[in-house]
Amino acid sequence: QPFSNHQEALVQHREQHLGKIWHFYDQPLHITRAQGGWMYSADGTAYLDAYNNVPQMGHCHPHIVKAIARQAEALNTNTRYMCDIVADYAARLTKDLPEHLDTCIFVNSGSEANDLAVQIAQSLSGHQGGLVLDNAYHGCTELTTKYSPESWQHLPEALHPKQIECLIEPDMYNGPYADRPEAAALYSADADRAIDALARRGFKPAVLMLDTAMCAHGVITPPDSYFDRVADKTHAAGGYVIADEVQAGLGRMGTFWGFMGAGLNPEKVDFITMGKPVANGHPLGVVILSSEMMKQFIGGTHPLLFSTFGGNTVACAAGMAVLDVIEREKLVQKSNDIGDQLRAGLRQLAEKHSLIGDVRGRGMLVGIELVNCRKERTPAAEETEQLIKEMIQRNVMIGKSLPGTLKIRPSLGWGKEEVDFFINAMDESLKMLG
Ligand code: PMP
Repeated sequence: QPFSNHQEALVQHREQHLGKIWHFYDQPLHITRAQGGWMYSADGTAYLDAYNNVPQMGHCHPHIVKAIARQAEALNTNTRYMCDIVADYAARLTKDLPEHLDTCIFVNSGSEANDLAVQIAQSLSGHQGGLVLDNAYHGCTELTTKYSPESWQHLPEALHPKQIECLIEPDMYNGPYADRPEAAALYSADADRAIDALARRGFKPAVLMLDTAMCAHGVITPPDSYFDRVADKTHAAGGYVIADEVQAGLGRMGTFWGFMGAGLNPEKVDFITMGKPVANGHPLGVVILSSEMMKQFIGGTHPLLFSTFGGNTVACAAGMAVLDVIEREKLVQKSNDIGDQLRAGLRQLAEKHSLIGDVRGRGMLVGIELVNCRKERTPAAEETEQLIKEMIQRNVMIGKSLPGTLKIRPSLGWGKEEVDFFINAMDESLKMLG
């Protein structure tokens, strides 16, 4: 469809005042409202949202909206006061976690949560080095950018952060040890190499940062025991393990805590960090750690720990309402059921569209690898871009991860209607590429 003069003017207005910031699609959408799994543009067109992982409980969920409004009307303030909701929310969030994960620090974003967790780990370990997976993204602060090779690995090596070493991704479809029965041992051995490489540069690891959803890594599924093995190696080197639940958490992967479903033993986790869906779109980030570590940090290098908006009562009310919705609507179970339906539908499409090389994921996180040749498993990078464009022509928003991989992250509230709409659009789009 041609871009209207009005739409062109909106883009120009935006660029004039915000700079040339990233937006979706050559012709960006002008979205004015959203509900459940759908977003609506100014002209009333409905788009099925399979991209947006922030409103995980559904856009503008009425229970969460009401909780925000009620709290904003009653009291909107920070953690300096004895507001019940802040401590109640922290207690509820941690109630089913192992004993050592008993304390919450509230901040405003996933980046801040990871930044603070790294600062604490550095302070307690006395180490400055870090381990992450290739291609990872963990935030936009100065510190978390170092833990986000996605942001710097295209730069010349001289500009890569010296204190960070990347581990190869444990890819069981297209990686060097794919299909090998001993893949967990082979892939995790890269942590030994990485720790040695850090040591040669004079660093010891303070942290291993893991997004167990593997969202920036092509939504791959690592071999069993991989995460535990790399966590053990980090601990043996005196570092801490951060389970970054910004993408994985709150039922996304068919378990409340994503890292647990991904097979990382909670006893091996020193920090959980949360963001994005934790308040369904209201700004909130969380660091969960042990009270003992918290005490050491506050008593040690960092006597004052305070964030003005972190843990404000409205954000906590939103977070609390998210937990209500997950329980009442049985969203963890639903994530498994609907996610399985989605993968089954896609695997059926793979029978007639040879472009689909692999369909993977857990719960409502689906990765699709598109390949030019199934035997060679060569990523179909260009076709991936085309498919995203074809899908939006059919009113479905999807995202990509690494070249050749699609990342599907719908709201957990999807039902059969949404799955059918999605599969139909995918079928039609693949026909156009066929
Ligand atoms: N961790 C992961 C795994 C993420 O995907 C992101 C954001 N894409 C972040 C951290 C940073 O979160 P935020 O944008 O809220 O700062």
